[in-house]
Amino acid sequence: MHAIVGGLGQQTTEKKMDDPSSAFQVAVRQQLLSDRMMGVRSVPMPPLRKTDPAVQSRPAASDPPGVSPAPSPARSSEAAAAKAEQLRVLDETQVKGCVKCSLCEARTQTVFGQGNPDARLVFVGEAPGYEEDKQGLAFVGRAGQLLSRMIVAMHLTRDDVFICNVLKCRPPNNRDPSADEILSCSPYLMEQLSILQPEVLVALGAPAAKTLLNTTASIGKLRGRFHDCYLSGIAGLGQSIPLMPTYHPAYLLRSPAEKRKTWEDLQMVIDRLGLR
Ligand code: URA
Repeated sequence: MHAIVGGLGQQTTEKKMDDPSSAFQVAVRQQLLSDRMMGVRSVPMPPLRKTDPAVQSRPAASDPPGVSPAPSPARSSEAAAAKAEQLRVLDETQVKGCVKCSLCEARTQTVFGQGNPDARLVFVGEAPGYEEDKQGLAFVGRAGQLLSRMIVAMHLTRDDVFICNVLKCRPPNNRDPSADEILSCSPYLMEQLSILQPEVLVALGAPAAKTLLNTTASIGKLRGRFHDCYLSGIAGLGQSIPLMPTYHPAYLLRSPAEKRKTWEDLQMVIDRLGLR
């Protein structure tokens, strides 16, 4: 950090850098993070992880004044192991052999999703594409590379989060998922989310946002604020999780000017998780 701000008076700089809430530090951090999302590799900063004492839930802008959210649940390694096992069973016994819709006929394999079973943050995309179908992993193609940069810009890694899709099979030629396919497949997603119990969800693109919020509103109208996502999986029935809809990375590759809005959305997620 000193290397970046070296041109400023050292004593004043150190004082400001010691105060995490100073406008100075917030501005420096925001600049660095947005640079990183855009692919600029500047001076690395120490990652903030959920095990870092600095990573505590702090009141989000949307919390009522004077109300501090409960601190993040301590997520033990036993809890992580139990979730990993539940996810494995769901994948092995239900998803891998699924024949509920015709997408099973053309798939190479199902794509369950991957990441940290104890993640505080889960990203949900639309459906596997060509690369994902080939590799059996979510978001490993070009859109996935941009998603990785977005995650790094948030000061996280893919190992900190969980990434999955609404559909577990690739629609031929990457066409949009049909309503029937979403209806057949979304119970798997709901079960996954009920097991994962993340603190925040990010829906990447319209199909994910519409499915998880049960709405027909456009992504342009939905993005930019948190919504309640109600789970219907067995382990999370009736529970709601804050969800931020934002643009899909594949759309951002075609419309890079919209990256700024997505970055604004992700900054709200960072704040909600107390990662600033
Ligand atoms: N697009 C998605 O929505 N999901 C993937 O896994 C890859 C591309």
